[in-house]
Amino acid sequence: MKEVRVRFAPSPTGGLHIGGIRTALYNYLLARQNKGTMILRIEDTDQGRFVPGAEEYIIQSLAWVGIKIDEGQGVGGPYAPYRQSERKEIYKKYAQQLIDNGHAYYAFDTAEELEVMREKLKLAGSDNQQYGITTRNLMRNSLTIDKPDVDSLLRSETPYVIRLKVPENEQIHVNDLIRGEVIVDSSQIDDKVLMKSDGMPTYHLANVVDDYLMKISHVIRGEEWLPSAPLHVLLYQFFGWQNEMPQFAHLPLLLKPDGNGKLSKRDADKMGFPIFPLNWTDPKSGEISEGYKESGYLPEALINFLAFLGWNPGTTQEIFSMEQLITAFSIDRIGKAGARFDIQKAQWFNQQYLKAKTDEELADFLLDSLDKEQITCTREMAVKICNVMKERVTFPQDFWLQGKFFFHAPITFDESVISKKWNNDAVKVLHAFSMEVDKATGFSAEIAKSLLEQVTASLGISSGKILQALRVTLTGGASGPDLMMTMEIIGKKEVCRRINHALATLKIHAS
Ligand code: GLU
Repeated sequence: MKEVRVRFAPSPTGGLHIGGIRTALYNYLLARQNKGTMILRIEDTDQGRFVPGAEEYIIQSLAWVGIKIDEGQGVGGPYAPYRQSERKEIYKKYAQQLIDNGHAYYAFDTAEELEVMREKLKLAGSDNQQYGITTRNLMRNSLTIDKPDVDSLLRSETPYVIRLKVPENEQIHVNDLIRGEVIVDSSQIDDKVLMKSDGMPTYHLANVVDDYLMKISHVIRGEEWLPSAPLHVLLYQFFGWQNEMPQFAHLPLLLKPDGNGKLSKRDADKMGFPIFPLNWTDPKSGEISEGYKESGYLPEALINFLAFLGWNPGTTQEIFSMEQLITAFSIDRIGKAGARFDIQKAQWFNQQYLKAKTDEELADFLLDSLDKEQITCTREMAVKICNVMKERVTFPQDFWLQGKFFFHAPITFDESVISKKWNNDAVKVLHAFSMEVDKATGFSAEIAKSLLEQVTASLGISSGKILQALRVTLTGGASGPDLMMTMEIIGKKEVCRRINHALATLKIHAS
């Protein structure tokens, strides 16, 4: 097999969308699986859409999710530069080659002239107003203007573009590794601009030239580029590069959570989940969008989640490390149908990856949060808290957010528990329990448990009936981690203090 060389080729036109990360991931998996090369190429030929900071953001985002670039922008390599705006001269040369071979031509039409053409065609009832086979002979281009006049227009620096001369009545075959063979009639394709009047190539020319020069073996990209593929195949033919043409794989779309239409930033904003891997600040509006990282997603969970948006391993296994994905991945198992974006699934993956961490590792997250709150806590206590909380959290910050009661006595008490469970029995048990705890020489989850058993047995009240009341005095909430361990962590003195405070302040609702 040909050496696997794949590229991720984003345009720095804004924050890199999560879908871009999936595209990069599939490229990366194929490269790693085949001991190939992962290339990062920045496609910045559309100067009008260039967004400052977007390129750095792409590089940082890939680094955060663990997609390592072997060659390309920011890394260097044998085919540098990898930023297309720095390769202008190369594209010029290839555009010239197409002109010389009769596969492209100069077009001098002004914007007004193009508009007039479209209007005329519309009036004549044509539903195809493209610049192409049927219209090119009516326009001002090097096919209709004599050579000496063309030369003088070029010399006088009249603005022009270079257009592809699409052949008539040709069937163009695109072989797609995911979709099979797609056949398109050349009449469907217009004479696309290859070089713009600002001297920059368009995406199509630059993309094909670079894929060829950089010896790309597979083009793996989003489905939105499928309509461009026939045009690219034509370019490979015109350049005489058919034998070097990469294999194409157009990835299924990422769909909105309800499955209706393409996922957009607007949907994500509306439904309150991130669309960008890292925080992204729009340089124009200053709007900050929170990233997956800052929202508390672990990069390995995000990668696992994204891998399954369009691909599946054909087994029931769901948890895959990057290494396991590299082994299991295959383009054959990428589906054609759009993949529904389900943020709950992303959260589930995050939970699984959090749970798999050691208590020591998790303690770092909690200590981090506490640091920001300027709360001191021993590592030993943080480890214990994480141990009891780990089954309940989705994000690293939840250890703090859901475990504030370990550090602060509750100010409010869950109303539903109070109204249902704060009764004479509860008050009797808690009163006696607090006295026993106070008298006890040591304190631990086990001691707490046996003291509670003793007290309830001697009062003849089932402990099951008062547990919620006990919890609410200690944490303020109706549910939470193991209660005995919670007491051990809070400590003997604080347990008594909180129970006594509740006994002194809460009114009895029922008996
Ligand atoms: N620059 C294109 C983009 O932004 C790349 C498409 C391709 O991979 O060919 O998605």
